[in-house]
Amino acid sequence: MTKRQKVTLKIINPANGELLKEMPEDSPADIAKEAQAARKAQPGWASKPISERIAILQKFRELVVLKGEALALTLTDEVGKPITQSRNEIRGLLARLDFFLQNTASELAEETVFSDQGMTEKIQHEPLGLVANISAWNYPYFVGSNVFVPALLAGNAVLYKPSEFATLTGLHIADLLYEAGVPEEIFHPIVGGGAAGAALLEQDIDGVFFTGSNSTGKKVAEAVSRRMIKIQLELGGKDPAYVCDDVDIHHAAVSLADGAFYNTGQSCCSVERIYVHSKIHEPFLEAFTAEVKGYPVGNPRDEKTYIGAITRPAQLETLQRQADDALAQGAKLHCGGKRMPGPGFFFEPTAFSNVNHKMELMREESFGPIIGIQEVSGDEEAVALMKDTVYGLTAGVYAKDQARAERLLARVDAGSAYWNCCDRVSPRLPWSGRKGSGAGTVLSHYGIKAFTKPKAWHLKQPV
Ligand code: NDP
Repeated sequence: MTKRQKVTLKIINPANGELLKEMPEDSPADIAKEAQAARKAQPGWASKPISERIAILQKFRELVVLKGEALALTLTDEVGKPITQSRNEIRGLLARLDFFLQNTASELAEETVFSDQGMTEKIQHEPLGLVANISAWNYPYFVGSNVFVPALLAGNAVLYKPSEFATLTGLHIADLLYEAGVPEEIFHPIVGGGAAGAALLEQDIDGVFFTGSNSTGKKVAEAVSRRMIKIQLELGGKDPAYVCDDVDIHHAAVSLADGAFYNTGQSCCSVERIYVHSKIHEPFLEAFTAEVKGYPVGNPRDEKTYIGAITRPAQLETLQRQADDALAQGAKLHCGGKRMPGPGFFFEPTAFSNVNHKMELMREESFGPIIGIQEVSGDEEAVALMKDTVYGLTAGVYAKDQARAERLLARVDAGSAYWNCCDRVSPRLPWSGRKGSGAGTVLSHYGIKAFTKPKAWHLKQPV
């Protein structure tokens, strides 16, 4: 390819297959130029008082409120997310912004930790410098803002690579940040697919904050492994929930169906495996299936739609493979089971029982509207099955007794534990995956300091 030829990125509406926009991808040379400009500009940004950066991000928040509906529509059109859920994501973004705007200054203030007889010890939180933010498409406002908001507030420059499936949203974010007063060199979106992400990793960066699949996460870790820079990986999961014998069955079924199928099942913390105590297995299945069969599927712009499009067409093959494999191995199908006819990429909301851990459905991330429900004899079997995974993002227990739920969840190696709820993220709590679900933490006070490096000051007064 000659120097001037550029790859064209086609942005497709996954709900109807229509072309939304075409645009040139950033070349490795473009990305190198952006990295150099960001590197040069970063010290100036970091030298501003933090109150100035907070005021700029506060303005960004105001612009998000002002333009919220337009942002939600773009998100719905490019990722196929039901419009009501796109609006929820914008509302959730505001809550995250509030958390960071209210807590960053105090969290990053210099700390004097010792002072006696002329000796002072203090900790200063310096920005990392230039960070790469490589992001997923399923909640672009959430997973993006978990990184770029605290990173910018802390004084870093950010090269932000949205997923190619959420490019328009990524560009909206950049435009609003510029309108709010963030200099273009300090936050720069990189347009392109995996190759652009790989080119970004070759730049002189001080940190990588990646959200995506386990397999790409490994590639990212390998690409920077010899550089000794900060790396955080927020990866996928195969999140389990256990329903004890003493719950309100209808309430648990409705809550877990929502946890499994919200965002069309395309959430990192979607419930992907359900274990139900044998005493209530049958009525639970009935209530769960009735709930799922009632979900309106279709045009994501329709206010009533609950199940939207599958964003990446390749995921349809994964879902069909998992459904076919489960059926071949003796699973019982309660609803759905196959791709829906086009236009657009849709998969029927699907629920199986009589499943086991030999099935891919119960082992590998599905990332779509499909679930396996397994009957268990009691707490011990449920915990053993919940633990039987290479992932460790979240786990939940539905039970009357909090102590019973906490006892069981303490034995599961997962970053988040839920009692009588699921598929939930709070800006006040750390968000982190264990084992194959990642390394590092975003949100909470951990997710503010993550974008800094501590400097330890040992200060002795002259005698
Ligand atoms: P991918 O791993 O496919 O992609 C993630 C990002 O990495 C995209 O921007 C992608 O670009 C980019 N990329 C691809 N190849 C490379 C490479 N070689 N070097 C650098 N960057 C690269 O994930 P998805 O976008 O499909 O997101 C879904 C996954 O993300 C699921 O597994 C989900 O569970 C996980 N996730 C985890 C979250 C968490 O907090 N733990 C939150 C949200 C999602 P492009 O898309 O343009 O190819």
